[in-house]
Amino acid sequence: MKIIGPPATFQKRMLACRRAGKTVGFVPTMGALHDGHMSLVRRARKRCDVTAVSIFVNPLQFGPGEDLARYPRTVKRDLALCAAAGVDYVFLPAAESLYPPDFRTDVNVGGLGDALCGKSRPGHFRGVTTVVAKLLNLAQCDRAFFGQKDAQQALIVKKMVRDLNLPVVIEICPIVREKDGLAMSSRNRFLNPSERQQAVALFRAIKSAEMLVRGGERRGIRIVRAAEREIKKAPLAKIDYVELRDAENLQPVKNIGDTATLLALAVFFGKTRLIDNTVLKG
Ligand code: AMP
Repeated sequence: MKIIGPPATFQKRMLACRRAGKTVGFVPTMGALHDGHMSLVRRARKRCDVTAVSIFVNPLQFGPGEDLARYPRTVKRDLALCAAAGVDYVFLPAAESLYPPDFRTDVNVGGLGDALCGKSRPGHFRGVTTVVAKLLNLAQCDRAFFGQKDAQQALIVKKMVRDLNLPVVIEICPIVREKDGLAMSSRNRFLNPSERQQAVALFRAIKSAEMLVRGGERRGIRIVRAAEREIKKAPLAKIDYVELRDAENLQPVKNIGDTATLLALAVFFGKTRLIDNTVLKG
């Protein structure tokens, strides 16, 4: 496994792979890797000849007062996980190399980034699309792999790729969960034992919504209320949002119909903000 810091070197290497006739699969991450990330790596390895992972905590996608400084950094362990998983290249850039002092350009996907997490975290998705555009250009990949865990991010990245005609296929992989149902996240390690225990409320909320829909409920308000009720059973939980949105365009949805509807949740446990989602269909 090769570890590469300088962006130009990474791009050159990836271009050389492509020129040698190999397909490149790319998994962008912020590190503190867990099995959710590794599921993307496994998918990339199945689909492509060469697998590249980037580890970069992107300052552009953190707002003032967010957890950029305390975001977990476990590079040594991440590299060992990547090596064991058969990753070929790890791109580990320094922030200054991606954002030199004269860096001015940003990439913004209108509309989709305003709702849900975009509302709670203004500027977040602009930071995400800017770094993902840069990383895709550097990786020169055939396919890039993202998680459904960040459903809004997945939609926005796909939209950016369509709108800008980027020559890459975006694959979205299912949410990987802990045994009790909590979606794996680098931020789970911030939870203290009682918060961790109660954090399963997000999964319970999703399950109760899915059960209602399976039982024939179509009224959005009933579904959202049921999900909220489950979350409120956890005394340490503070709801940021529980919303039903069209799973393609993120327009608000009143009642479940034949098209896919995203039930998206964001919940605070102390300072830690957890997100989760499921796709409901009538
Ligand atoms: P992050 O390091 O949190 O920026 O995540 C990097 C990629 O891993 C993103 O595409 C995430 O959606 C994906 N990811 C994070 N957690 C999970 C999970 N539990 N299951 C599947 N994919 C995940």
